[in-house]
Amino acid sequence: MNVLFPALRDGSPAPALRFGDRALSHRQLAAVAGRLADRIVDRSPAGGAARIAVWATPTLETAVGVVAALLAGVAAVPVNPKIGESELAHIVADSTPSLVLAEPGADLPGPLAGLPRVDIEVAAPAEEAAPGPLPLEPGDETPALIVYTSGTTGPPKGVVLPRRAIAHTLDALEDAWQWTAGDVLVHALPLFHVHGLILGVLGPLRRGGSVHHLGRFSTAAVARELSADGTMLFGVPTMYHRLALDAGRDPVLAKALSRARLLVSGSAALPLTDHERITAATGRRVIERYGMTETLMNTSVRADGPDATGTVGVPLPGVYVRLVDDAGQAIEANDGETVGEIQVRGPNLFAEYLNRPDATDAAFDGGWFRTGDMAVRDAAGNYRIVGRKATDLIKSGGYKIGAGEIENALLAHPGVAEAAVTGAPDEDLGERIVAWVVTETGPDAGPAPTADELADHVARQLAPHKRPRTVHFVAALPRNDMGKVLKRELHA
Ligand code: ATP
Ligand code: MG
Repeated sequence: MNVLFPALRDGSPAPALRFGDRALSHRQLAAVAGRLADRIVDRSPAGGAARIAVWATPTLETAVGVVAALLAGVAAVPVNPKIGESELAHIVADSTPSLVLAEPGADLPGPLAGLPRVDIEVAAPAEEAAPGPLPLEPGDETPALIVYTSGTTGPPKGVVLPRRAIAHTLDALEDAWQWTAGDVLVHALPLFHVHGLILGVLGPLRRGGSVHHLGRFSTAAVARELSADGTMLFGVPTMYHRLALDAGRDPVLAKALSRARLLVSGSAALPLTDHERITAATGRRVIERYGMTETLMNTSVRADGPDATGTVGVPLPGVYVRLVDDAGQAIEANDGETVGEIQVRGPNLFAEYLNRPDATDAAFDGGWFRTGDMAVRDAAGNYRIVGRKATDLIKSGGYKIGAGEIENALLAHPGVAEAAVTGAPDEDLGERIVAWVVTETGPDAGPAPTADELADHVARQLAPHKRPRTVHFVAALPRNDMGKVLKRELHA
């Protein structure tokens, strides 16, 4: 039986959670979350496989609530407090929580307001007070979290994550990132997805280290915390983009970033231009890792490995990764060119999609999970993602072209601030390449580029058949709360 949080059981006095000026040691967290776990058990249906919703604001309460649910052995369903009522109604109807945990005073919307509610009370006990005994650990296959996917390609699906998958992925990251109890993670991500919740909160707790959540992301707050005691930063590409721009003009931020032991990006591809800007300003490289709600983490550039910028690195310990061609055959080539679908196997995988046996079946090829992401593998074994099979692979004039490559080329143009590339049906080509561009508007921006100029730039940088046929100039790209571009909302 895998003890998820040894430092809680040991009553370690080391710092665990810090949100603004409120903090708990592992020992205090054990006391607070242990008491809440008792209340959850009292209020849960006897013997039933209970599921409880957690109103997942970026607060200490949410972190305590999720830890309490894990201690109680019930599955927590973190709910994005900003989602619309219809999506919330879907999540509540799908996951049928028996109660909802929320911070005191939170005003819960309709679908959650009707549920029995337990307030998450966080009154830190005196450091010397002995935490009460914690409940026994449930079995490794017990569902620990049900996390809804980001909804980038369609309606979010509820992913049932057993304790085993969480323990495995966090231990694999310990190895790849040399993550220790001495690390202080600087965190500004939401707490209802894998990245912010499992990696960002449960990760430090499992290591016996600590996390400092900033509440809201700002480059100034990141600079402050990394200059104080922060050792690691986890972020999504939209955050690193802002850090990249600000680090170029703010020596304090550049110095803070250069001090960090580890800068990690994930959830979507980090454009090469942002990698380059950060390295130019700080002398440091951002490490990318690749994961999904369904698989937790699959690959990462290793902290102790060679530079692999522009790739998502190598498979994590215990995780099997393969590339598969359209005929379903494994690709053996390590040529950095042959594109296939990434499939994964290992103890990091989810149990099932909640209430969706059809979708669960369709997601597997034998024991291999079909990620829907397309990649190439280089001679060093690093994977480079070229995009999603459904939205990012453009079949044009007999070629298969990855949207990401064209997006990177567009972003390398000084007049381009943001770029997304899609395919549109075309009588001659099958599909034609369509670019969506937000132009640079800052005080230093030159004259806005024309569509032809950008198309020529891509053709010159890459190849003539990768030239966008249409360039739409837009004010902003549609993005979800993780900053991922919603390509289904871009219609040519
Ligand atoms: P939905 O499944 O609802 O459409 P989603 O796939 O965005 O949404 P998540 O499970 O949060 O939901 O995201 C996983 C996806 O994020 C991966 O399949 C991959 O496409 C993308 N991703 C994650 N990390 C990286 C990375 N480092 N580089 C490129 N893409 C990444
Ligand atoms: Mg997905």
